[in-house]
Amino acid sequence: MKNLYILLTTILFITGCSNIRNINKESQFSVEQSNLIMSADSTTPMRVLSIFNKKDSVVLRTKCEDVVADQQDILLNSLIKRMYATVNDTLNPGVGIAAPQVGILKNIIWVQRYDKPGEPFEVYLNPRIIQYTKQKLRWIEGCLSVPGMKDTTTTRSYAILLDYLRPDNSHKVEMVEGFTAIIFQHEIDHLNGVIYLDRRK
Ligand SMILES: [Zn+2]
Repeated sequence: MKNLYILLTTILFITGCSNIRNINKESQFSVEQSNLIMSADSTTPMRVLSIFNKKDSVVLRTKCEDVVADQQDILLNSLIKRMYATVNDTLNPGVGIAAPQVGILKNIIWVQRYDKPGEPFEVYLNPRIIQYTKQKLRWIEGCLSVPGMKDTTTTRSYAILLDYLRPDNSHKVEMVEGFTAIIFQHEIDHLNGVIYLDRRK
């Protein structure tokens, strides 16, 4: 009987440990990322990192990680909402934003869809460009992380084939062209640590 009690306690202990491990493993955000995301409510814009700040520029030059699309993930939902609030901040609005610009090294972007009726903002997880047209566009670009500057890029493709997830985990492949394609190229560059100033020639 005593042996059985020890065996049961051991099993319970091991199960308990593995549960703790699973809870920790389940979060796709670090404690630092979690603290930053939850530092204010989901309608409050986050601080936009600047390429002219030494510490910020290290973050902006780092490649991001993929995220798991999970609508039950409170941190992911809050981050998505706060990024939306940031790109729509009336004091400093933009047409797109990438998660590293608010200090979170994850593959998430918001893009204003100038190619759709009503020009809505849409969020994309783990976006990738899988094809580019050879035809290029000259464009004058600006960036929330390069305040006070605008410059001409000459290496953006006219159209791109995109692969991404929506927050409901649906997988999409889509062709985008023109100004909207430039915004996508600009934001996806951010996820790879590239700033539009690198695209001047
Ligand atoms: Zn930018």
